[in-house]
Amino acid sequence: MSDIPTTLELGEDWPELRDSVRRICAGYPGSYWQKLEETESYPTEFVGELTRAGFLGALIPEAYGGSGLPLRAAAVILEEINASGCVASQGHAQMYIMGTLLRHGSEEQKRRYLPEIATGRLRLQAFGVTEPTTGSDTTQLKTRAVRDGDHYVVTGQKVWTSRALHSDMMLLLARTTPADQVAKRTDGLSVFLVDLREGRGKGLEIRPIKAMINHNTTEVFFDGLRVPAANLIGEEGKGFRYILDGMNAERILVATEAVGDGRWFVKKATQYAKDRVVFGRPIGANQGVQFPIARAWAELEAADMVCRRAAALFDAGKECGADANIAKLLASEAAWKAGEAAMQTYGGFSYAKEYEIERKWRETRIYQIAPISTNLVLAYVGQHVLGMPRSY
Ligand SMILES: Cc1cc2nc3c(=O)[nH]c(=O)nc-3n(C[C@H](O)[C@H](O)[C@H](O)COP(=O)(O)OP(=O)(O)OC[C@H]3O[C@@H](n4cnc5c(N)ncnc54)[C@H](O)[C@@H]3O)c2cc1C
Repeated sequence: MSDIPTTLELGEDWPELRDSVRRICAGYPGSYWQKLEETESYPTEFVGELTRAGFLGALIPEAYGGSGLPLRAAAVILEEINASGCVASQGHAQMYIMGTLLRHGSEEQKRRYLPEIATGRLRLQAFGVTEPTTGSDTTQLKTRAVRDGDHYVVTGQKVWTSRALHSDMMLLLARTTPADQVAKRTDGLSVFLVDLREGRGKGLEIRPIKAMINHNTTEVFFDGLRVPAANLIGEEGKGFRYILDGMNAERILVATEAVGDGRWFVKKATQYAKDRVVFGRPIGANQGVQFPIARAWAELEAADMVCRRAAALFDAGKECGADANIAKLLASEAAWKAGEAAMQTYGGFSYAKEYEIERKWRETRIYQIAPISTNLVLAYVGQHVLGMPRSY
């Protein structure tokens, strides 16, 4: 946000891109998001405008009709959306789910789908990994895809499949070889493109989940759904690896999005602390009010640095697993602390919906849980970075 200083000597990166995003976001004030929440609706106009501006096709190479921007630019887009008070998570997955297709799909699949995704004519923004009975233990997921001629027959259930009712296709992770017949638990899982338009009523059912935030998230039930074998991405049985390399990109993007939320909270809290007069002086003159905001700003700056480093490593094609995870950990916690500082600064008015603090506060809590929970990030650092024993 231009009016919140950063410690970077060079200021904000991608300034023109940031300006363009801010201009679009200015047309979607808090009242727009409040109305959507009240009616449990999807921000079709907002996501459509981002798509038409080319932002959601930022990571698709120009050869396939996208903008061909680096991951850092995509992260900046999401950061600015949230820093403007809008909600990046409603459209962010259209940006990165296609990464699995881009990196592991056949040339034919890429030519068929990527240009359509870039224009927004095809919405690929649902990602079915999590299941109700296995949660974070992804390799134990129960959804099966069994080959039958030139199709796979899919049976099982996903939970928290966000935006499935606002997506034309979904990326599905399912087990193709039973867990007791594979050498490693990460083997035998495969990734498919599932056409949600064709499948509904023919072995596919999608049910919305009422949730704490307006996230348009769902449960998806598969009961003998026939998926063409041509929709398998890459080789059968290698899906877990394909999903994993996309997860680093997702973590970096989501982390930067959280930094955006944090910047919004700091901006709002700072302004309120200057304006609100109690006991004859601005509440921001009291260190008990000022310091939590100052600390949140400092922690956001630190998280932002790690987000930038993780994106730089990703864009350079280097190993970035540790940095992507650490970025998500630090940014999710910094954003939460900024939200807490804003809640406390606004006092009772933080509970009034018109001030939006309570909405953003609820929204920003998710980054500590999804796409991966804090404990699982710490387990990654403990085991893969520090070499301590596995806990699971
Ligand atoms: C709003 C929302 C949107 C989502 N969108 C999607 C989506 O689009 N697609 C999708 O596939 N998923 C999605 N998810 C699911 C999300 O990724 C999971 O909720 C998350 O990964 C945690 O899994 P779980 O809820 O099953 O928790 P569990 O795995 O049941 O874990 C519960 C708690 O136990 C802790 N825990 C578990 N095992 C260990 C361990 N070994 N050591 C230490 N702590 C442990 C976890 O850290 C967590 O705090 C979404 C979730 C939400 C809430």
